Amino acid sequence: MAQNTLIVSNWKMNLNLISAKKLISKLRSLKISKNIKNIICPQYLLIPHVRKLIKNSQIILGAQDCHFEEQGSFTGDSSISLIRENGCKYVIIGHSERREFHKEENLDVKKKIKTAIKNYVIPIVCVGEPSLIRQNNSYLKFICNQIEECIPKKLEKLTIAYEPIWAIGSGLTPTIDDIIEVKECCVDFLKKTKKIKDIKFLYGGSVNSKNFFEIRNECKIDGALIGGASLIEKEITNILKGDF
Ligand code: PEP
Repeated sequence: MAQNTLIVSNWKMNLNLISAKKLISKLRSLKISKNIKNIICPQYLLIPHVRKLIKNSQIILGAQDCHFEEQGSFTGDSSISLIRENGCKYVIIGHSERREFHKEENLDVKKKIKTAIKNYVIPIVCVGEPSLIRQNNSYLKFICNQIEECIPKKLEKLTIAYEPIWAIGSGLTPTIDDIIEVKECCVDFLKKTKKIKDIKFLYGGSVNSKNFFEIRNECKIDGALIGGASLIEKEITNILKGDF
């Protein structure tokens, strides 16, 4: 049986009630392969609205972040239980924009992963190097250190997204060989140090309808985390309608 491919749309802080409705109605009308998990991660206030719009469709709901505590005095944050109650099956954790703009550290990411799993929400954990680290050739060490510090022990399975920071929103992508190198390194490291057997590896960073299939097929990845292109109807529909 063909493996599932995860297409994760990270809408970030984009779209509103009207534009989300328009995009969802296009996505709903697509005939897509049963092997695709079409996961949409809207901003918090859109989640209940999108939940209604995707009812009885193949679309799966996710969130872009959660707090690591289950409740408490954390102004502006959202709890994982509320995220789950609102229909989210997935949550993105450790995105580089959270790390940069909200000063999230690897330890915060680790706590969030544990909280998500405890609450039956599947974490999609982001790792990836900034451009200076890529240039000085220490990216594998940097990513392994992120994994070492972020990923809890004794997980049965893990969905990890490699997102080089310099590729996000820049139009730049690593080469096929670069992605394969990082994938093999991450998978080996996770198996060896964290004893995780079931690993799903996604790539994210300037994925679009032109490069997605080459990256997916050549690198044999389990899917993609898509920012900018997930907001453009033609781009995301061309990806979802493709040959899976
Ligand atoms: C992202 O930020 O998760 C992302 C992959 O963005 P983009 O596709 O726009 O590079």
